Amino acid sequence: MDPDHPSAAAAGSDDSRLAELTGNLARVRSRIAAACQAHGRDPATVTMIAVTKTFPATDVVALARLGVTDVGENRDQEAGGKVAEVAAALGESAVRWHFVGRLQRNKARSVAGYAHMVHSVDSQRLARALASAAAERTQPLPVLVQVSVDGDPARGGVVIDEVPRVAEVIAGAASLQLAGVMAVAPLQWQPERAYQRLAQVAAQMRADHPDARVISAGMTGDLEAALAHGATHLRIGSALLGNRASLR
Ligand SMILES: *Cc1c(COP(=O)(O)O)cnc(C)c1O
Repeated sequence: MDPDHPSAAAAGSDDSRLAELTGNLARVRSRIAAACQAHGRDPATVTMIAVTKTFPATDVVALARLGVTDVGENRDQEAGGKVAEVAAALGESAVRWHFVGRLQRNKARSVAGYAHMVHSVDSQRLARALASAAAERTQPLPVLVQVSVDGDPARGGVVIDEVPRVAEVIAGAASLQLAGVMAVAPLQWQPERAYQRLAQVAAQMRADHPDARVISAGMTGDLEAALAHGATHLRIGSALLGNRASLR
């Protein structure tokens, strides 16, 4: 690094970050392509969401320029700032923002303002709060019911027996669109088992709500298992962006 030329040094580090993101994106895309091939899936039916939590808006801008269309965040406060920064750099509709984290009802209005999809609806009360928060939107807000496949609601998610009731609240709200299900595989479980169970819940939901086709499943460590069991949306963080500084 040349201390007399700090801007050149900064440009150099932007270049190396861009190279890192480019390589990571190519590796993730080839993992997705290979898993689709192995399971007879058309990659065009799979949406990869880059989960950019803890990483700066400049990374979102770089990924968008590399062709990433969908971005995920898990905290409203962090997301709100990035949405504004990315819009300033690339325009309002450069990427679609997915909200994938635990959502407090008092943040529903903010999230409904920028989200393309909310993956983490885990109660009837939250569904009602989002329904009123989304009332000002021109298009209904697509939402997923987050499912607790092991029945432990600690990581968020509705126990399987409760899923139909939460789905009914969403389906009955004019400002919301029931789009499907989401899950995070429990740490102690084989991901195959978790995603197989999620696929059953998704099939039950589709029997009542044929348009609820989204299955949001699969992260860095288990995207292959998720694709084997019908995932339509993958939420990929560390394989694209690197390891996060703190666990969350
Ligand atoms: C952080 C996060 C991800 C991405 O996790 P990685 O293992 O880094 O790919 C996916 N889903 C949710 C809900 C997350 O919070």
